[in-house]
Amino acid sequence: MGMDLKEELSKIIIGEVSDDATALDRKARDASIFEVRPTVIVAPRDVEDVQNLVRYVAAHKGDGLSITPRAAGTDMTGGAIGESIVMEMTPHFNQIKEVGEGDAVTEPGVFYRDFEKATLAKNLLLPPYPASREICTVGGMVANNSGGEKSLRYGKTEHFVAGLKVVLRDGKEYTFAPLSRLQLDLKMAQNDFEGEIYRSVYNVVEKNYDLVKRAKPDVTKNSAGYNLWSVWDRETFDLSKLFVGSQGTLGVITEIRFRLVKPETHSKLLVMFLRDFGKLAEIANAVIAFKPESFESYDDNTLKIVLRYFGDLAKQMGGKNIFQLAWAFLPEAFMVFTGGMPKLVLLAEVTGASEEEVDAKLAQAQKAIAPFQIRSRVTKTEDEARKYWVMRRESFNLLRKRVKKLCTVPFIDDFCVRPADLPKFLPELYAILNQYDLLFTVAGHVGDGNFHIIPLMDLADPKTKPIIEELAQKVYTLVFKYGGSMTGEHNDGLIRGPYLKQMFGAEVFALFKEIKRIFDPDGIFNPGKKVDASSVYAMAHIKKD
Ligand SMILES: Cc1cc2nc3c(=O)[nH]c(=O)nc-3n(C[C@H](O)[C@H](O)[C@H](O)COP(=O)(O)OP(=O)(O)OC[C@H]3O[C@@H](n4cnc5c(N)ncnc54)[C@H](O)[C@@H]3O)c2cc1C
Repeated sequence: MGMDLKEELSKIIIGEVSDDATALDRKARDASIFEVRPTVIVAPRDVEDVQNLVRYVAAHKGDGLSITPRAAGTDMTGGAIGESIVMEMTPHFNQIKEVGEGDAVTEPGVFYRDFEKATLAKNLLLPPYPASREICTVGGMVANNSGGEKSLRYGKTEHFVAGLKVVLRDGKEYTFAPLSRLQLDLKMAQNDFEGEIYRSVYNVVEKNYDLVKRAKPDVTKNSAGYNLWSVWDRETFDLSKLFVGSQGTLGVITEIRFRLVKPETHSKLLVMFLRDFGKLAEIANAVIAFKPESFESYDDNTLKIVLRYFGDLAKQMGGKNIFQLAWAFLPEAFMVFTGGMPKLVLLAEVTGASEEEVDAKLAQAQKAIAPFQIRSRVTKTEDEARKYWVMRRESFNLLRKRVKKLCTVPFIDDFCVRPADLPKFLPELYAILNQYDLLFTVAGHVGDGNFHIIPLMDLADPKTKPIIEELAQKVYTLVFKYGGSMTGEHNDGLIRGPYLKQMFGAEVFALFKEIKRIFDPDGIFNPGKKVDASSVYAMAHIKKD
């Protein structure tokens, strides 16, 4: 390009524009296995900045310019990195505009932890927060359609988005929310860009109504593809549903209206220690019958790795509460040394309006699992419960700070199958994994059949890349055989985009392509992700260490 991009953008943007080498290096990564260095980083100060930037890029599309929105950069798929302009939302789009009686309006760059403080002050909660709750933003949650420990009961982020403001490729900001048939007809009658968008999407979802409805993966959680099946039910038409989980590939989200819930006041954990996977599905079903608020798990490797690298990990935690933490882990350390290590630890959180209600539910749940003769315990204090949550929530975050030469390599990190299929599915999965000499951890959302397998590998070793490609293909083929989703919550990005056609079939994939074409025919929004992903590109951009 003949011009200095930074200089050009500085003329049209009030917010910061940077091409400082250190900054570019930093934004070349997210929490995925990839590295893609941007040309420029822009931090738009307001909606007008976003609009000016989109207009500029749209006008210079021939120069290969594009915009990759980025919030906290904790994406595990390569979704938050791109070659051209990375648009950072955290510096200025960080205002919570209003917390109402049952909803809230916020900018997308607000960190979940800050958002939660504001909602809890009004005794309200946005329940689909991810395990990365301390380090991610609400905008990233929307763009990835994130889920977490409370999704079993409440569903994912898609269920809590009541409306969105989005800047589209014409550089204008639009509001998307549920419309009645009459409102939809009025929109479609508009002789402008918005009217065209409504007519085009309506055509896709109405002409292919049955195909689209059938395409919805038959699992409780899915972040793959575009949420086409949620747009239109022949009564309500809601384009905001399409942006949830779209990873910034259709436009830039500038404002979010969330629906919120009143959190339960009392909770306790039922902790179960399983020696093998044999009865997992039966136990899971017995526990699910008592409607736990969360039903999570982690495996022996998670526990071993947390303990083995405790020194490293404690240091990475900045010396915070090390002794307390070490003390709390003593019983687990004892289990390791005495060979009494469980294969899987299950955590079921039971909630209610009073302690009596919680205790009553727990007593019933314990009775229901009694026939399986597994060890179990109920946490007595909040501190004790916190220890289990730390292991579940933080293990990946701690591990990704790299352990010795190995680093976390998420590429089969988020599949979702029906819980009823677990007894057959898991042994087949382990048979595949055991073909490789891999160190990996398994944690996940048992109640949803959604598991996170995170191998620890040496990316400098030339043998690593081929394993990633081969193993991903094998695992996803198995997941698809069971009618599952390759991603329950982390989304597609660079890593899983190439498998979308295999997962959904050519017909539905063509509809996804059509959606991308309607909103972004020139590929200016987060190019090379989702339907435009290529495994050749992905493999060429795996980070070196
Ligand atoms: C330790 C750890 C644990 C995790 N646990 C979970 C988990 O339990 N559940 C889960 O779902 N995920 C999990 N993740 C993945 C990730 O944290 C979540 O998906 C999170 O919601 C991403 O938020 P972010 O602010 O970091 O977004 P980013 O990573 O910055 O961006 C995510 C995607 O959203 C797009 N985007 C961001 N802002 C906008 C915008 N304004 N408009 C349009 N597009 C935008 C980006 O282009 C990118 O594709 C985990 C990650 C880590 C590192």
